[in-house]
Amino acid sequence: MHKQSYDIVIVGAGVGGICAALAAARLRRSVLLLEEMEEIGGTGVHSAVSLICSFRDKNGRPINNGIHRELFPQAYTESKGLFEADETVPTYDEKQLKDAYADLLRKEPRIAVRTGSRVTGVAAESGRIVSVRVETNGGETYEADGSVFLDATADGNLSALAGAEFELGREGDGKMQTATVTFKMIGFDPALLHKPDVTTWSGIRSLREELTTYYKQLKEEGGTRNSRPSVLCFPYPDGKGILFNSTAVTDVDPTNAASVAAGMKEGVEQAQQLASAIKRHPAFAAAEVEYIAPKLGVREGRRIVGDYVLTADDCLSGRAFDDMVAACAYSIDIHDPLGGGAMLVKIGGSGYYHIPYRSLIAKGWSNLLLSSRCISGTHEAHSSYRVMSGVSAIGEAAGTAAALAVWAKADDVRDVPAAQIRYVLQAGGQFVEGDVEKATLR
Ligand SMILES: Cc1cc2nc3c(=O)[nH]c(=O)nc-3n(C[C@H](O)[C@H](O)[C@H](O)COP(=O)(O)OP(=O)(O)OC[C@H]3O[C@@H](n4cnc5c(N)ncnc54)[C@H](O)[C@@H]3O)c2cc1C
Repeated sequence: MHKQSYDIVIVGAGVGGICAALAAARLRRSVLLLEEMEEIGGTGVHSAVSLICSFRDKNGRPINNGIHRELFPQAYTESKGLFEADETVPTYDEKQLKDAYADLLRKEPRIAVRTGSRVTGVAAESGRIVSVRVETNGGETYEADGSVFLDATADGNLSALAGAEFELGREGDGKMQTATVTFKMIGFDPALLHKPDVTTWSGIRSLREELTTYYKQLKEEGGTRNSRPSVLCFPYPDGKGILFNSTAVTDVDPTNAASVAAGMKEGVEQAQQLASAIKRHPAFAAAEVEYIAPKLGVREGRRIVGDYVLTADDCLSGRAFDDMVAACAYSIDIHDPLGGGAMLVKIGGSGYYHIPYRSLIAKGWSNLLLSSRCISGTHEAHSSYRVMSGVSAIGEAAGTAAALAVWAKADDVRDVPAAQIRYVLQAGGQFVEGDVEKATLR
């Protein structure tokens, strides 16, 4: 089996992996970015989620100013994040996001992007990953080695292959949030809606109410197994399409391929049922489903146990940490594992909390960093930082830490001071709080 060597190996090319790769390459380290799908983008592209979730404190100040801003510039100019009735709903188009990722990655020759490349094994010694085994869709198998490995698989697949400790599901019954197949409808007639401008918060809320009437009819007729109480949807930025984030599949185990496949089948059926109910609304009579997301949207998977486990209390109290390397302002948002609606609880204090470096370090491992929603936290905390504003900041911090570890020839990622990570993040424009310490790259 042949071998390929890089400074940093990142597994998973969703928002966390891509932001990590960009951050590390901008610090002039070589990066291998592995993605098992044929295309990069992860959940935000292939499960199209639409909303650019809140990244502002309670006064409207952005607490994520890093690569997230390069990916979603419109959210920094068009919206104040206050959810006022006439304010534009900050959303994105998944095709444009995929292009934005590709453009940013193309500018970094130090990043080798390999799609159709699945990591299927890990060689490790004494709490240190030595290499990963990569199997390509073309039938090739090779080993990739590096100094630091980043788990950007969302579900903690790399860490689990290495044998790292993890948790799955909520305390008590181990259940996870519902999964969703999203879909897009176009060709509706806004003139037939109570509020034609669906790009504003008042417009989209009004549309949801109108459509919920038809959805409830469908439920009363026994026409769907979807257990959501109401319709959840978002406008595309051009106002011509609507993204429905409104199917609910219970009991999907993302660590089991058969469970994911069955969940996808159920989600597609629910999407078709919901679309047929929506077409009963006169404004949607001529509308059509333009797109059903090709990948089941899985909200929750393994949470790798790190040096610190972030809790709901940390999030809700707006806790500050000495080793902060990222921040998140999004509410705790749990889509009921039993299939009801979503429970949203706002972040207290100044409206955001710190994510400590220790939550990005897999416990007992010296060169394994967590760079996606699989960081170390409880079920409740995960429901907050899992959104793209949180994960992009996590990825950027993890990629920066990895590059600094390589520059310093550190045996353990713990030897990189959080203040140095903050120094580099701040130099790149990212929001940080706490002391900074100059990092020397030589
Ligand atoms: C239905 C739904 C609605 C949501 N709504 C919103 C929303 O409105 N706004 C928002 O900001 N967030 C939303 N989220 C959350 C958010 O989209 C995700 O949590 C976030 O995008 C996850 O990013 P990630 O980088 O952690 O993982 P992902 O984007 O999932 O990327 C992980 C990547 O790793 C790859 N991978 C996994 N295993 C391997 C392996 N062994 N080898 C190689 N590659 C591998 C996967 O193929 C995938 O591409 C929603 C999520 C869902 C499911």
